[in-house]
Amino acid sequence: MADRVESRPFDAAIIAVGSELLTPEKVDTNSLFITQVLNDLGVAVAFKAIVGDHRGELTSHVAHALRRHQVLILTGGLGPTDDDITRDVVAAHLGLSLHEDAEIIDAIERRFAARGWQMPAVNRRQAMVPRGATVLPNPNGTAPGLWLEHDGAVIALLPGPPREMKPMMAGEVRARLASRAGDTRLFRRLVRVSGKGESAVEEIVQPIYSRWLAQQPTIATTILAGLGQVELHLVLQSSDAPLAAATLALAVAQLTLALGQDVVSTDGAGIEAVVGDLLRARGWRVALAESCTGGLATSRLTDVPGSSDYVERGIVAYSNEAKVELLGVPASLIQAHGAVSEPVAAAMAEGIRDRARVNVGVGITGIAGPGGGSAEKPVGTVCIAVAGATTRVRTFQFPGGREMVKAMSANWAIDLLRRHLLE
Ligand code: ATP
Repeated sequence: MADRVESRPFDAAIIAVGSELLTPEKVDTNSLFITQVLNDLGVAVAFKAIVGDHRGELTSHVAHALRRHQVLILTGGLGPTDDDITRDVVAAHLGLSLHEDAEIIDAIERRFAARGWQMPAVNRRQAMVPRGATVLPNPNGTAPGLWLEHDGAVIALLPGPPREMKPMMAGEVRARLASRAGDTRLFRRLVRVSGKGESAVEEIVQPIYSRWLAQQPTIATTILAGLGQVELHLVLQSSDAPLAAATLALAVAQLTLALGQDVVSTDGAGIEAVVGDLLRARGWRVALAESCTGGLATSRLTDVPGSSDYVERGIVAYSNEAKVELLGVPASLIQAHGAVSEPVAAAMAEGIRDRARVNVGVGITGIAGPGGGSAEKPVGTVCIAVAGATTRVRTFQFPGGREMVKAMSANWAIDLLRRHLLE
């Protein structure tokens, strides 16, 4: 291994093996579980790959992983058939011969016998063990796992079926890794932001991020954008828990200062739960009148257990008649301004507030598309009002298709409610 990187960090690579994982039908979920267990031990994942049942491809990924990382976890390709190549490829790459393990044969034969069957000859393949490897028992299947230590690196081969892989990863592999991982842990904070797009948030936080990269311990950051929300993930690797917590707390405070009211939560709480806490703290109740969102905003608020404390009702007033009958929106107002207009959104919010006798009402009316748009009010035009003691209304122009417009509208409605409650 001439081109080995001399001081490899104690971080991990994951390779999921199986051609079916490269089709549109099958998702590699195993690597997520494996990552979770590794992260719990303070081991970061530096790279992962999905490789089909192809020897050359798998060999080069194994070689790459072992050059750069001290932990390699492989999952899948340990089955009895010819296209199950993981064991062969790893053994060949490390220059290890394979021998048949009598105990494994025994265990597989017993598994088949328990069902009244004879072990097919192909299953002998699963009993092939590279020289020096430790066999990891698999209580839920025929393919045992394998543990190898080579040239300062540890390599675990685990079966593909999640119900077999998970207990092995969480049990034996975790225990073996724990003794090597030392007391370094990963510490995380999640800051949720609403009301700004990804690039606007990035522009504000980038100068802060770069300061963190220059300090010790370093904070690694990831920005994730969802529909109308941005998540900032901060991760710090340290063996000093109080120092890690204090460093992250300071970092979160810097973000909060820079982003102000756009920060929804700094403890990972979702915007629905944050709004719920604000309503509960004030002893307020809310009611929503929704048109284009079809109840989505109410649905999201009621995703939070205990939301009956503060959600009084939600009405889907889709037609003009419904807006008149159920919310008392004057028909003349709809006539004069159109159903998608700020005066109508405001009247919907005030109507539901008064009829439900709550402290705050929300009104949402818009054009989700694909039809119904005009030059003046194109698809994606949405008016959202929040009516408390006073009424605020805003018009948005959301991009995307029907689903996206609905999701963005519901998110903004909840966010405007949140901002109202912060005032
Ligand atoms: P077996 O002994 O069952 O053949 P194996 O180790 O060869 O085990 P595979 O044949 O690769 O595993 O996969 C068996 C099953 O597990 C398949 O249904 C496959 O879709 C599922 N599976 C394999 N890898 C993953 C993965 N990374 N994430 C989720 N499911 C997976």
